[in-house]
Amino acid sequence: MKNLEEYVRSIPNFPEEGIIFRDITSVLQDKDSLKLAIDQMQDTIKDIDFDIVVGPESRGFIFGVPIAYNLNKGFVPVRKKGKLPCETVEMEYDLEYGSAVVEMHKDSIKPGQKVVIIDDLIATGGTIEAIVKLIKQLGGEVVKIVFLMELEGLNGRDKLKDYDIEAVIKYE
Ligand code: IMP
Repeated sequence: MKNLEEYVRSIPNFPEEGIIFRDITSVLQDKDSLKLAIDQMQDTIKDIDFDIVVGPESRGFIFGVPIAYNLNKGFVPVRKKGKLPCETVEMEYDLEYGSAVVEMHKDSIKPGQKVVIIDDLIATGGTIEAIVKLIKQLGGEVVKIVFLMELEGLNGRDKLKDYDIEAVIKYE
């Protein structure tokens, strides 16, 4: 069987000239690599004490929900502004051009809950930094952050120095 890394499709010049896009659709559509990805991400948290998984729209849902289910935990979605129906907290963060806003339901994390964040990829770390702030605002404690992929050259970890971060596949 191939290594998990070999299933990721790298697309040059998408979505812009000069960017290499790491595409996970090729990982998801193969039964072996889908299992490898979920299992390897899940392995990084199997021995830690935590209460709930948080995952950002939309690829954080793909990995976060099966891992939460397997480990018998709940899942909290982080969504783009305007999608959640109940009272929310929101955080704005910078994108390469402009900014974005993410939201969580106010009652999604209980004070003192230990949280694991799961997403597909860390680039600059801006998205996860905003989510960490929201979880703290709700009284949760982030005990681990797990990614399938890390783009090391963008130094996303620098924004998250106080946190335990794990990435299954690393690109320079
Ligand atoms: P950050 O906030 O700069 O860390 O960007 C992370 C977000 O951008 C992740 O949620 C990814 O889904 C998305 N992203 C950035 N680059 C890529 C890529 O090469 N492949 C897939 N997603 C990417």
